[in-house]
Amino acid sequence: MVNKVAPDYEESELGVGDSTLVRAMCETFGRSEATIKQSLANGEAKDLGEVALLSRVAQKMLMMPPKLTIEKVFADMKALATASGKDSQKAKKERIQKMMVASRGAEAKYIVRMLQAKLRIGIQIPTLLQALAYAFVLTVPSQKGSSGVPDRRRGQGKFSAGDLEARMVSMEGAVKQAFCEQPNFDMVIAALMQGRDGSNLHEACHISLGIPVKPMLAKPSKGLGEVGERLSGKRFTGEWKYDGERAQVHVISRDKIFIYSRNSENMTEKYPDAIEAVKESLSEDVESCIIDAEMVAWDQEKKVILPFQALSTRGRKNIKIEDIKVNVCLFAFDCMLCNGVPLVKETLEARREKLWKMMKPIEGKVTFAVYRNFDDELKEEEVQEFLDESIAGSCEGLMLKTLTENATYEPSKRSLNWLKLKKDYIDGLGDSLDVVPIGAFYGKGRRTGAYGAFLLAVWDPENEEYQTVCKAGTGFSDEDLVTHYKFFESHKLEKPEANYNVTDKMKPDVWLEACQVWEIKAADLSISPVHTSAMGVKADGKGIGLRFPRFLRIRDDKQPEACGMLSCSQSASCLSLAASN
Ligand code: ATP
Repeated sequence: MVNKVAPDYEESELGVGDSTLVRAMCETFGRSEATIKQSLANGEAKDLGEVALLSRVAQKMLMMPPKLTIEKVFADMKALATASGKDSQKAKKERIQKMMVASRGAEAKYIVRMLQAKLRIGIQIPTLLQALAYAFVLTVPSQKGSSGVPDRRRGQGKFSAGDLEARMVSMEGAVKQAFCEQPNFDMVIAALMQGRDGSNLHEACHISLGIPVKPMLAKPSKGLGEVGERLSGKRFTGEWKYDGERAQVHVISRDKIFIYSRNSENMTEKYPDAIEAVKESLSEDVESCIIDAEMVAWDQEKKVILPFQALSTRGRKNIKIEDIKVNVCLFAFDCMLCNGVPLVKETLEARREKLWKMMKPIEGKVTFAVYRNFDDELKEEEVQEFLDESIAGSCEGLMLKTLTENATYEPSKRSLNWLKLKKDYIDGLGDSLDVVPIGAFYGKGRRTGAYGAFLLAVWDPENEEYQTVCKAGTGFSDEDLVTHYKFFESHKLEKPEANYNVTDKMKPDVWLEACQVWEIKAADLSISPVHTSAMGVKADGKGIGLRFPRFLRIRDDKQPEACGMLSCSQSASCLSLAASN
């Protein structure tokens, strides 16, 4: 249901392009590419999944292979994800053909959609975790019956209504926490199958070495006033907010160190130099640990931080230390585990003490985030002064974090106990926003031959659709425009996806797959009759649009569905800004 065959930190991309898929469909169903395209163009089928279904139903077969089982399909999908080498595309095509030949009823449709990673069942991970929790409360495993098969009884009969509800709430919390700390369905479900519940699931599924935790995130703040409101009366610390890439470092042993991104992707091969530096900086008594940090591009000669763009020029795979052109420095700011002991429930003050003992700084390679602690009585001038220092130090602003009260590490939460205070918020320009290009307009003049502007959208998790926020044509260098044009050559759509909510006035020349995230900056928000985001929130029948949007960069570390106007950090700043307009 999550349309993945493995957790994010393992090889989980199926790597099946539409061309392989179409070729497999042609051979399986005896159709030509032209008739498949025609079915899509004339509206007979909404997507390739429906083409597969219609083709399968129309096909007469003398002999049917054995029925597909979930186990077999899952194994085949896993094999697709791990296939590599010279003949792998051919082997993948044959495997797909076998699955399609054996499919019955609607199976071909879902197999094709799975292969395209567009299952369209409208289920997100939180919903699935909730469903899992309820399922395990409502069916209670008892001792194995005489046949050896567990006898599952319905929970409702066993508990009173109030008791049942309490169990569901406790189980849901436990399952969600377990998945935050150990984002691996195999492990969480295995622990549930053992009969664990809200009271003891945590004993089996907790933060562990080699399994990246979903990182703790911060809430945006609009300025010193808001910081004061939220943090006054609490002991808190300010840290420089470095503009790089989140890096979760797992030291399993001195010779086994891994680095994961904000999205739990394995970045170990990208940063062999940082791994060496961590190894060198670890204190002798540290055998294993998990450290939260920011990886920042660093100029070795001038001893200064370089902009984020410098970091993005580094390759990702198989990087050799001798070939590295852009150096990095790791700024550590938290730790979640040390020598087998989880630290997430400790206060930030205690965790930071431990972090400082775990490693020694090495100039220009590994160090700790610059910080300043503030007493419970907030003095705005002091915070302002520290903010100015951070900007002079090439940082984006400050992260303000509670030190003792409500100061545990909250995996995957966008917590009020961490506030980001960026220079831009204070300038009144607003934070940058993450959006998804879903359409493109052909360029004119100098831009002829490429796209001149793009239709940008945000994801609304409630309505499960992409809603437009602006059309953007500035901020792109000539090189950017060529890069985007080439990238989208293989991500064009014949027609908009069913979940694109676009008004007639905004129809682009070319529809694009929602497969990339862009960071943009806008001057302002306005009520818009042509855009569909937050439709009706501020004015009947009108949405919220962005004024003067400007492209900043591609964000490889974020998924399109994390760009929710209403769900993520940007929504808070956007909607409150919108409200104040
Ligand atoms: P988010 O990660 O909150 O979704 P985002 O990706 O747009 O938002 P920002 O708003 O720029 O990122 O800020 C949060 C990020 O700042 C963190 O995810 C982390 O990568 C980075 N960061 C830099 N310095 C620190 C620090 N001292 N403490 C925590 N995070 C820091």
